[in-house]
Amino acid sequence: MSTIKASDISSGKIRALSKAITLSESKKAEHQKEAQALIEELLPLTGKTIRIGISGTPGVGKSTFIEALGLHLTGLGKKVAVLAIDPSSPVSGGSILGDKTRMERLSQEANAYIRPSPTSGTLGGVAQKTREAMLLCEAAGFDVILIETVGVGQSEFAVSDMVDLFTVLLLPGGGDELQGIKKGIIEVSDYILINKAEGENLGRAQTTQSEYLSAMNIMSRSSVWKPRVKLISALENSGIKEYWNDVLEYIELTKTDDYLVNKRLNQNKKWLNNLFFEMIKSKISQDPELQKSFKELEHGVIQNKSTPFKSAEKMLKLLFTSHIN
Ligand code: GDP
Repeated sequence: MSTIKASDISSGKIRALSKAITLSESKKAEHQKEAQALIEELLPLTGKTIRIGISGTPGVGKSTFIEALGLHLTGLGKKVAVLAIDPSSPVSGGSILGDKTRMERLSQEANAYIRPSPTSGTLGGVAQKTREAMLLCEAAGFDVILIETVGVGQSEFAVSDMVDLFTVLLLPGGGDELQGIKKGIIEVSDYILINKAEGENLGRAQTTQSEYLSAMNIMSRSSVWKPRVKLISALENSGIKEYWNDVLEYIELTKTDDYLVNKRLNQNKKWLNNLFFEMIKSKISQDPELQKSFKELEHGVIQNKSTPFKSAEKMLKLLFTSHIN
């Protein structure tokens, strides 16, 4: 792959952006090195966007909603990037999220960029690559980043850890469990949208709304923002403009108590820590001798011959004196 210039990305060349994302997704060490250098060079240009996470079970209307929101935003003259985290895609061999055919009209917009989920790796790996893609899109001048996920494993939490505002889409009727919503997702949500709230669904949608509203009332994390629960119909394009106006209000409000600044700061710290421990694990898994010694120590603990504490200390010593690099 030819060298990618940071200036091509910062001047908004889509081909350069796509190539840089591909580079960052590559497992080859030299590609990684180049991608990291590129992202680091572009870091000062990142962060000036609104980052939104969108989650919901298959069929809830995510792609219809993202298309409607994306078109509203491009209509306002904004540049929109749609990214995805789908940790199941390595298994199925292809991503259903971020697929251009799911958002046909939006994909034809000059100011929209749609990129499917990375197709290989663990959730941690896929999420890290999506985060890097987000930074590259920011450097390329996008105004809004939409990150889509479906509830596989812990993917919603990974998305909520990299966005400013996390939105869950629900259907009218049925509690969390009935809708396949994992425990804890509602707690990390800043916004709930009850989609398909039209026609004969409307009554049920209103009941669902009031149920979630009372549940969300006790979950406020910022002193200035109470999670909202609103009704929309992505298909009929109703409630989309109002949602976007609420997002803008959220950004303004959460600036006043430094909630957003701190949120991003803590997200960065969490990513650093997660990556650090992931790297240690991966280094250990690449060193057969170390693994052998660790297994012996583990055996000692299982056999009740040594305490977990003493063995853990020994493991740490072995790690520090090993020659992994
Ligand atoms: P996703 O799997 O979450 O991305 O869901 P899709 O956006 O593909 O939508 C699944 C189905 O629901 C499609 O047939 C959509 O046309 C339909 N759908 C999406 N939004 C609405 C809505 O607001 N009202 C109604 N009635 N159908 C909708």
